Amino acid sequence: MSLLPDFITAIQQTIHTHEIEVTELDKAIGDGDHVVNLQRGLAALKTIENELASLDYSSAFMKIGMTLMSTMGGASGSLFGTLFISMAKATKDQPVNLTSFAAVFAQGVESVKQRGKADLGEKTMLDTLIPVVNSLQESAQNNESLSATLEKLKLVAIKGMESTEGMIATKGRASFLGERAIGHIDAGARTSQLMICAIADVLLAQQ
Ligand code: ADP
Ligand code: MG
Repeated sequence: MSLLPDFITAIQQTIHTHEIEVTELDKAIGDGDHVVNLQRGLAALKTIENELASLDYSSAFMKIGMTLMSTMGGASGSLFGTLFISMAKATKDQPVNLTSFAAVFAQGVESVKQRGKADLGEKTMLDTLIPVVNSLQESAQNNESLSATLEKLKLVAIKGMESTEGMIATKGRASFLGERAIGHIDAGARTSQLMICAIADVLLAQQ
């Protein structure tokens, strides 16, 4: 997957740019380590980026998942790890097109839901990921162009992330706070959105 190094670089940049903001979010309703966990995982991916670029989709997703699982830590480490390991298992067709990727990503997010026993509306990364799955599948069904798909996906990711602000949390550390969690965006929803938008921007720049 030759674009993987570009994706990793773009993601590292956006997470670095928003490092303080996301840390504040996780401090407000979690323990403040989310960005550090994520940056540890991303740094590990960076060191194997050439190997990742040489692998097919399925093997690359598996390697990413195993690496995140073993380096990140935190709830998010096992959830992001699960996302990619499940995507690796679901990837059959080579090369991947929009329709098959939408199905693969949907399977990955389904596994995150099962692993975390969570769903839409519980103030987690899933409030970004589930709307993005739905948007991707809708775009694939309607045969939308890649640029239209990506522009829509970015808006949906932002809207999903923002939706967590008014929610109480029923999963993860923020669930201990009850109503006090209201008024804060979920850190994992924010980083998921930032990463999705970074990937979309790399792809849009190639159009
Ligand atoms: P920890 O909560 O163990 O400190 P992180 O700070 O790295 O781990 O990640 C916290 C993020 O993980 C939250 O902001 C939320 O988006 C996500 N999260 C936590 N629990 C769940 C869950 N059960 N399902 C989905 N996402 C979750
Ligand atoms: Mg944390």
